[in-house]
Amino acid sequence: MTKRIFHSICLVAGSVFAACVALFLCVLYDYFSGVQQAQLRMQTSLAAQGVIHEGTGYFEGLDASNYRITWIDMDGTVLYDNKSNLADMENHLRREEVVDAIYKGEGESSRYSKTLLERSLYCAQRLPDGTIVRLSVSQHTLLTLFLGMLQPICVIVVIALVLSLVLASRLSKRIVQPLNELNLDEPLSNDGYDELAPLLRRLSTQQKKIKEQSIALLQKQQEFEAVTMGMVEGIVLLDSKRVILSINPAAQRLLDTDASCVGDFILSVNRSPELQQLLAKADEGTYAEKILTLRDGKYQVDASPIRSDGKVSGTVLLLLDVTEKEKVEQMRREFTANVSHELKTPLHTISGCAELITNGIVKQNDITKFSAQIYTEAQRMIHLVEDIIKLSHLDEGADAMKRETVDLYTLAQETVKSLTPVAKKAKVTLALEGQSAELDGVPQLLQGILYNLCDNAIKYNRKDGKVTVSVEKEPQSVRLTVADTGIGIPEEHQERIFERFYRVDKSHSKEIGGTGLGLSIVKHAARLHDAAITLQSEPNQGTVITVVFPTKKVAAEGESTWKN
Ligand code: ADP
Repeated sequence: MTKRIFHSICLVAGSVFAACVALFLCVLYDYFSGVQQAQLRMQTSLAAQGVIHEGTGYFEGLDASNYRITWIDMDGTVLYDNKSNLADMENHLRREEVVDAIYKGEGESSRYSKTLLERSLYCAQRLPDGTIVRLSVSQHTLLTLFLGMLQPICVIVVIALVLSLVLASRLSKRIVQPLNELNLDEPLSNDGYDELAPLLRRLSTQQKKIKEQSIALLQKQQEFEAVTMGMVEGIVLLDSKRVILSINPAAQRLLDTDASCVGDFILSVNRSPELQQLLAKADEGTYAEKILTLRDGKYQVDASPIRSDGKVSGTVLLLLDVTEKEKVEQMRREFTANVSHELKTPLHTISGCAELITNGIVKQNDITKFSAQIYTEAQRMIHLVEDIIKLSHLDEGADAMKRETVDLYTLAQETVKSLTPVAKKAKVTLALEGQSAELDGVPQLLQGILYNLCDNAIKYNRKDGKVTVSVEKEPQSVRLTVADTGIGIPEEHQERIFERFYRVDKSHSKEIGGTGLGLSIVKHAARLHDAAITLQSEPNQGTVITVVFPTKKVAAEGESTWKN
């Protein structure tokens, strides 16, 4: 700004100076021309008087180097010329000043002299004898005048230039100083130029607006942070260059970073190619999702493009924990595959036996044997389907089941009674110990626990083995123990026997009618009673399974403690 003002001032000063010099030269030139003309007129008159009195003698010894003197006869023949050779000179009768002198007595003109090649002033006077005396003098041109004055002009130019520079510099500084001193934080408090008032008013309004907008923006940002802060889902906001603008604590934990990553590229936080693919799709404006393994869980990562003015200006990443969902899905898949597999074997056997009987291949004596086989397999299927139904009921939760005060000892008595024939058949002694112990529970589920544990204790026992069921009442719980002297469970299988369809010895279990679901039912039913199961077993020594049912409510009064 200062430079511009300075240059403008210098330019104006230079232009004014040049115009003044030009005007001054023109005026001077005009003045000197007039003076020269008057002098020439007077000199011509003196020369005419000289020629009248002295004739040609006047020219002898005449020193008039500045003037050209020409004496012209009445017919235009040049009689004398002090600057040119007479022989080379043409007739002068047609010269303007000569013509005027012949007719009017005197004449004047100015023109370029072809002979002397410069601009000349001419003045002619007719003598009484009819001859004409003419004087001419070279006239100063503007350039000659300018060159003559060059030295003083140069001095004036230098002085003017220095003065202009100093003044322009000071002036431009004085103009700009109030602008530099403007208080832009409070535009209306300035006492500057009046011309700036509208600008300052506008500035003040704009500042107010910006302040209001930034407060609103800050409020929104705080609201957004407050919402995302407590979210279990991870949220990451990225700009169009994939720089992190915001990341909530859940996302920080999942991506193994902290809040200081704001402003960094997402690539510096997570380099997984799957995430990059998601972001590439979002950059193209397409929503994309993928299941990624973050930390030790499975997460669904959604990448949604943010659009503004029809362009993708950023991406929102949403990280949802789907570990449980994936596990349940996996379990469902495995369960379906297992059920199909479990049902296929008895169905094949039944179908094979029935086919043989139908085709008359089986001898009459063997029909009973084959029918018994069909019956056994059908029973196995019925057990399997019953167990599956029980499990699916348990999967639905205990809310739908009626809870009541149950005496576990009485239930155990019934179970022992119903299983005594089975135990006898397996040559196993079945005994019950303990005393009456009441608890809040679902009778069918408790029955299921007792039945499956006792049934297993008989099934996986040895000849002349023993099964002891005991129900103990404790201050805050009821303890159910089923101990047997059977084949036991090797340690490596102990953790997995509560899984669905898991058997230590598949063929043995099937042989004795096991479905592989008994302990799963026990685990589920116990969980729905908040009961803890412990297992102690040693191969060929026996197994002790203990279920401890809490009798005191853990949660607030009136609320159920049975949770899914
Ligand atoms: P199953 O119908 O095959 O008995 P369970 O779920 O009841 O299925 O039991 C799972 C597996 O655990 C059984 O196949 C068996 O190998 C083992 N098991 C369960 N109870 C006992 C026990 N008392 N003694 C030895 N092994 C047992």
